[in-house]
Amino acid sequence: MPRLTLKAISKRFDRFQALDAVSLAIPDGAFLALLGPSGCGKTTLLRLIAGLEVPDHGEIRFDEHVVAGSSAFVPPEQRRIGMVFQSYALWPTMSVRGNIEFGLKVARLTAQERAARIDEVLDVVGLRGLGDRRPHELSGGQRQRVALARSLATRPQLILLDEPLANLDAHLRETMLAEFRRIHSLTGATFVFVTHDQDEAMAVASHVAVMDRGRLEQVGTPEELYRRPASPMVARFIGRGRTLPVRVVRSEGGQTRVMLGQQFLDMPGDAPVGYGWLSFHASDLRRVAEGGHLKTELVGQVFQNGAFLSHCLPSEIDGDVVSVPLAERLAPGTPIDLAFTGGWVIGDGDTGHGAVDVTG
Ligand code: ATP
Repeated sequence: MPRLTLKAISKRFDRFQALDAVSLAIPDGAFLALLGPSGCGKTTLLRLIAGLEVPDHGEIRFDEHVVAGSSAFVPPEQRRIGMVFQSYALWPTMSVRGNIEFGLKVARLTAQERAARIDEVLDVVGLRGLGDRRPHELSGGQRQRVALARSLATRPQLILLDEPLANLDAHLRETMLAEFRRIHSLTGATFVFVTHDQDEAMAVASHVAVMDRGRLEQVGTPEELYRRPASPMVARFIGRGRTLPVRVVRSEGGQTRVMLGQQFLDMPGDAPVGYGWLSFHASDLRRVAEGGHLKTELVGQVFQNGAFLSHCLPSEIDGDVVSVPLAERLAPGTPIDLAFTGGWVIGDGDTGHGAVDVTG
């Protein structure tokens, strides 16, 4: 399997910069999610990898082979890539077997080889016995399995999936996520999966690349993005994280002293002295009787996962509402003193985009 490398990829549509110097190395056999808000350039990046678009600048390599760049362009059909779309894109008049067989005919396999390969991929996706059905005789989840089987049949080096679960209901999405994980480990192929749903990305991927406005913000494992976001955007986008403005006083060896309002706080993180952000999740806060780091006032509560998730507005600093799970129901307006038990400090600068290598 190839290692996929993107080097400073830029793409413009008229005057709109859809991608701006995106660099990314995807290791062999990874399951990478491209994650970001609508319009950030995920699909454009996937189409560039597939060869359906040509980059304005930069280079795409499969191992050491340049497939797109100033000196070379390998057309999509020669890239050994399988694609799965949100719409499935199955031929309605063909049977399941016929849909899968098409690419194998193009690849000039014999009838016997084709039949064996179809049986093999139907087994992989759990559809043995349904080969003679037409797409309209299948459920949405089964149709998506056929689309995946079709993309696996030619044994491509790389499988690209563009929001493949967007048309399925929440329960089926969860089942199919588990299926994608199983099939990914069974085949050992590299999967690149586009989604705007961070829960989906975090649940399925070995690595997640977070994009925003045509730029790559950060790439890492789900845990790294959650615990050590590289930018305020990533901190807020992943795991319903929150950020509060701080002054970075000192930062050394991964330990950072910040000033939050009038108080000093020592936190893990790495940020230049100056303005910064303290990023944290609800589980990083604890209510204390007095002497907390953050004085707040309760604005509302929702009962969630057996506790009252309590939204509190900081009273002494400028900042958004922060949330903390509490055991009891309290009246709005109740003063709540909060202490940090965890968190991560990030700088305010232009962090994260540019050359990032998930293999380190
Ligand atoms: P979504 O999650 O909504 O699908 P995305 O992150 O996949 O979004 P892209 O489809 O890559 O976003 O589009 C990125 C930007 O480039 C969008 O603003 C889009 O309007 C623009 N764009 C994409 N393709 C073209 C095109 N062929 N011509 C002009 N603009 C385009």
